[in-house]
Amino acid sequence: MVRAKNVHKSFGSLEVLKGITLDVRSGEVMTLLGPSGSGKSTFLRLINHLETLSAGQLSVDGELVGYRRAQNKLYELREHEIAAMRARIGMVFQRFNLFPHMTVLQNIMEAPIGVLRQPRDQVRERAETLLDRVGLVDKRDAYPSTLSGGQQQRVAIARALAMEPRLMLFDEPTSALDPELVGEVLEVMKDLARSGMTMVVVTHEIGFAREVADSVVFMDDGVVVEAGTPQEVLVNPQHPRTQNFISRVL
Ligand code: ATP
Ligand code: MG
Repeated sequence: MVRAKNVHKSFGSLEVLKGITLDVRSGEVMTLLGPSGSGKSTFLRLINHLETLSAGQLSVDGELVGYRRAQNKLYELREHEIAAMRARIGMVFQRFNLFPHMTVLQNIMEAPIGVLRQPRDQVRERAETLLDRVGLVDKRDAYPSTLSGGQQQRVAIARALAMEPRLMLFDEPTSALDPELVGEVLEVMKDLARSGMTMVVVTHEIGFAREVADSVVFMDDGVVVEAGTPQEVLVNPQHPRTQNFISRVL
C-alpha cells in the first residue's frame, strides 16, 4: 500500500530523512516510533504530499506520490489532482482541527459532500453509522467546543473515515489528551485496525503498538534503526539506540 524507497527529505541544509526504505502492506498496521525530531511527522506528511521529497521514491497503492504517468512520462500532479489523491488518505493529528462553527454531524458530512460531491442523504447515513462506531451518536448535534478532547478526537477519526480512505495516517493522536481520555481513542483505533484498515501510526503508546501493530519501525535521526514485529522491536530490540528509547518510554 505504501512503498518508500530510499526517501530523503531536506529543509534547506537540514537533512531530516536520510534514506527511508519501508513497505506497508494492505491491511497492515505499522507503528512508527522515535525520539522528537527524528522525522516521523515529516515522513507521514510526505505520504500525503504535504511535503515533497528531495530524493528517492514513494508510492501509495502503486501510484507515485505527487506524479501521474501518461504515455510513459511522469507529470507532476496539479492542485486538483493532489486534492483528489489526499481525499483517499485519512489523516488524524495530535490536534483535532474540527470546524468549530459546525456540529459533529456537519463536521463529518462536510468533505464527502463538498469534495466528493456525494448525495447528502447517503452521506448522512454513513456519518451516523460512523458516529455509532466511535460511540458518539448522542453528540451528533453538539458543537466541538462542548466535547472532551477524547470525544473530539473520535469525531476527527469519524470525519476522516467518512471519506472512505484506503489508508489512515495518525500522528500522535493521543498525545494532546488527558491520560484518562487516551483509552477511548485507542479503542476506536483498535477497532479500526481489526476491520482491516491499513494504518500508519506515530505514537508513544507502546501498549497499543504491542497489542495492535503488525510491524514496528524505530526511527532516529532520519533513518530506520530497526524494524520488525512488535516482539522483535519492543521486547527484544537489537540496536542500542532502540533499547535506550524503549527503556525510556516504558
Ligand atoms: P516529534 O516527535 O517532536 O513530533 P518528529 O519525529 O515528528 O518529532 P519532524 O516533525 O518530522 O520530527 O521533524 C524532523 C526535523 O525536521 C526537526 O528538526 C524539525 O525541526 C525539522 N522540520 C520539520 N518541518 C520543517 C519545515 N517545514 N522546515 C524546516 N524544518 C522542518
Ligand atoms: Mg511529529
